[in-house]
Amino acid sequence: MNAAQFLETVASLSLQAAIVIVAAGCIRRFGRLTAQAECRLWTCSHAVILTLTAIAATFPHLRLVIPEPLAAARAVSTVQTQLIAGRVLQAVWLTGVAVAGMSLVGGWICAARCLQSCRPIADDLVVSSGVAKVAAIGGRSVQFQTGPHVAGPCCWQFHRPYILLPNAVLGFPAGERQFIVQHELAHLRLGHPLQLFLQRLVEILYWFHPIVWWSARQAALAREFACDAAVVSSRSEIAGYLRTLLSVVEQTQSVGEPCRETIGFGVGSGVIALRARRLVTLAQSGDIGVESWIGRRLRPAAILLCGVACTLAWLPVNDLASSRSWLSPWPTWSAALARDFRVPARDYEAYDPRTQLFELRETAVEEEAATASR
Ligand SMILES: [Zn+2]
Repeated sequence: MNAAQFLETVASLSLQAAIVIVAAGCIRRFGRLTAQAECRLWTCSHAVILTLTAIAATFPHLRLVIPEPLAAARAVSTVQTQLIAGRVLQAVWLTGVAVAGMSLVGGWICAARCLQSCRPIADDLVVSSGVAKVAAIGGRSVQFQTGPHVAGPCCWQFHRPYILLPNAVLGFPAGERQFIVQHELAHLRLGHPLQLFLQRLVEILYWFHPIVWWSARQAALAREFACDAAVVSSRSEIAGYLRTLLSVVEQTQSVGEPCRETIGFGVGSGVIALRARRLVTLAQSGDIGVESWIGRRLRPAAILLCGVACTLAWLPVNDLASSRSWLSPWPTWSAALARDFRVPARDYEAYDPRTQLFELRETAVEEEAATASR
């Protein structure tokens, strides 16, 4: 992919991601969703954004808007500017992706090291925390561990599911421990580690996009709300749960920051305040949103439809694009792959910015000479 195509792809994908997230935001705003439905909505949006990115990197796209051809002299300067902007953007984006990718791998290493220093929690303590003998997620038994580097109650699943509890939490009354363990089990049962992984991939690719940051924050909050709602069912339980939240913050704030890639029980005072406010509303009104069979299917369908429509949202920022074709050229790698399978993938347009720019320069010189001779 050359610099002009890269500029067109990044600008268009940023627009497409924004459309998908705004659509999800509108559904959430007007849909009165349960927290669990909201989690699914954000996960669906992130999956659609990843799919759109893969489609853009693999297939040609339709051009609904083909810019009017500019005068040769003006086209040369515009195209040169676009090529420079594309090259700078390529370097900056790749640097950002590398930094964000390293941060993800760093989080995994941090969690793996923390696990290595952990030891299993005694069975009687686990059972007294309200877990019936062996808790299993997807056929794999959950490992309960504790250790000196566990900064707060959290869960993690790469291959095997883990729930990590700090030593301080093991000394909590059984009722409070039960709330914490049930909250972490709810994360694992609802598939939140996988949802977080998809979200991280979107965050890495779109590290520069404020709307993606916003959606990531909303998704993280929705996951916490969903697990809070899964644990409490009465006013007295909500009161006890709020006390547990405060105890966890009190006991664990001096230990240090938890690993970023684990799903913590109470991360950040701002998040705790929002969760507490939502729990108080829940206790007062009992309103946790509406979840119907139709809504459960319609919402992902609406986001998918939005994603399909987004494949047409391409910004006409590449002045080297041919005005003779409604289809962009195939990306080089997938064109080569298609040719290996005897599919004539580059039939649409022979795309070579150097040749085209050279032709534009020649035309500009000829136009200049014709103007001077008049
Ligand atoms: Zn949580």
